[in-house]
Amino acid sequence: MTIIANIVEHDLCIGCGLCAALCPQGALVMQWNRYGEYNPVETSPCTTECGLCLKVCPFADSGENEDTIGGRLYGAVPGVGHRPETGYYLASYVGYSERHRPTSASGGMATWLLETLLDEGIVDHAICVTPTGNPDKLFAFRVFDTPEDVRTGAGSAYYPVEMSAVIRQVLAVPGRYAVTGLPCFLKAIRLAQQRNKKLRERIVVTVGLTCGQLKSKHFTDYVATLAGVLGEVTGVRYRGKSPDRPANNFYFSFTTADGDERRIFRNEGISEAWTNRWFTPRACNYCDDIFAECADVTCMDAWLPGFLRDSRGTSLLLVRSPAVQELVERGRGICLEPILVEQVVQSQAGVVTVKRQHLAYRLCLDHRGVPEKRVAPARPLNLFLRQEVAAKDRMRELSRDLWGTGERDGNRLREAMGQDLKRLAVARQLSKIIMFPIKTLRYIRREVRGRNHG
Ligand SMILES: Cc1cc2nc3c(=O)[nH]c(=O)nc-3n(C[C@H](O)[C@H](O)[C@H](O)COP(=O)(O)OP(=O)(O)OC[C@H]3O[C@@H](n4cnc5c(N)ncnc54)[C@H](O)[C@@H]3O)c2cc1C
Ligand code: SF4
Ligand code: SF4
Repeated sequence: MTIIANIVEHDLCIGCGLCAALCPQGALVMQWNRYGEYNPVETSPCTTECGLCLKVCPFADSGENEDTIGGRLYGAVPGVGHRPETGYYLASYVGYSERHRPTSASGGMATWLLETLLDEGIVDHAICVTPTGNPDKLFAFRVFDTPEDVRTGAGSAYYPVEMSAVIRQVLAVPGRYAVTGLPCFLKAIRLAQQRNKKLRERIVVTVGLTCGQLKSKHFTDYVATLAGVLGEVTGVRYRGKSPDRPANNFYFSFTTADGDERRIFRNEGISEAWTNRWFTPRACNYCDDIFAECADVTCMDAWLPGFLRDSRGTSLLLVRSPAVQELVERGRGICLEPILVEQVVQSQAGVVTVKRQHLAYRLCLDHRGVPEKRVAPARPLNLFLRQEVAAKDRMRELSRDLWGTGERDGNRLREAMGQDLKRLAVARQLSKIIMFPIKTLRYIRREVRGRNHG
């Protein structure tokens, strides 16, 4: 089948499930692969070769990218702006919902939005991700009809989830739906909406999440071993907040079938696996959408100096739809104020580097099966950046392969990464020494220019 040969066999599937939901023959189901990621598998032979699966896949060469999709959706909105990093945007805000903050990932704005959409009758159903209690599938997308149910989905799931079942439900049950999703999932929904009238009419609001990478289910297994979890994990909370730590030092807490509870903070080993891209699907290496450009509104963390200290978490919003702008401007029960879009971009500086400079270099190193990106392949002059990309790619592959063999030994995994971790640490030190005089010169030049103008 085309989707298997073109996407899955090139290891470019992110596991969204849209191909499986839309296949007219019902020939695809979503299953775990050996790396703990979702892929479609063929359950019966495809006899029509209609190609719909490829037309909705965010990693296929559909001839559409986030700029063309965003342009069609938001390009004609009065007052809309566009930046290469963000795509289209109408307004940007910083703030929180006091009621949602304690259980949410950052300022609780995503849950507030979904609840308000239901409360005000703008949608009949909200689709979000919620814990299942099933050790083999800890999180899943579900369709909810009440604000109380939506609140059970608050928080981030750094875990694979797929949409085939909920999209089939949208196709089967009339009504107006709001959907949350990562950038690639919402791109798939937009591609599907172009080809399916029911999805076009029924999905009326999309709430995106800014995204740097997804993690396989093995990432959760690995962090559980770091936390000393012995039993079978039945629940995880990924964004626990501690009043004595900054917002970016959140904790993961694990619960097991025998009632054990363990927690581990981000700086106790999670950050090492996260930033070095261990257990990240290959598709994320070729992603150029930072801010969910196909979403009516995108929510993210306020990773900015003024907000980091507040452990309760603060949200940034990038709004593209006038209807959502009107909703947040009325803002019942929230504390929100405008913020410059430049600051929103600044808050995601690390992700911008990965999805622009790193991507450009990755496209030089290995672009097997990768469709055209909005970033041109380029070999950077910066030697540190080249080493960083190569080391992180090696570690990403190694983590997938080691855990994929069934050997689940956290110590052995860290040992295997040792060489690359050392190389990165040395390169980082060298880069600091080399960059110091350059940064000082730039600073002096800025100061002199400032004085001359002042
Ligand atoms: C894999 C992943 C990577 C991310 N990377 C970044 C990043 O680099 N920078 C950044 O600022 N923010 C990132 N985020 C978003 C961030 O973690 C928060 O989700 C966001 O700030 C919204 O917080 P909130 O308090 O407003 O949302 P909440 O009130 O906590 O609500 C979050 C909503 O999103 C839904 N949800 C949770 N996980 C998923 C998922 N996997 N797929 C679809 N919906 C989901 C929940 O069900 C809930 O409805 C990422 C999120 C995920 C899941
Ligand atoms: S990315 Fe989505 S649409 Fe593409 S093959 Fe994977 S599950 Fe199917
Ligand atoms: S990095 Fe891109 S491809 Fe990976 S999950 Fe996020 S949006 Fe999807």
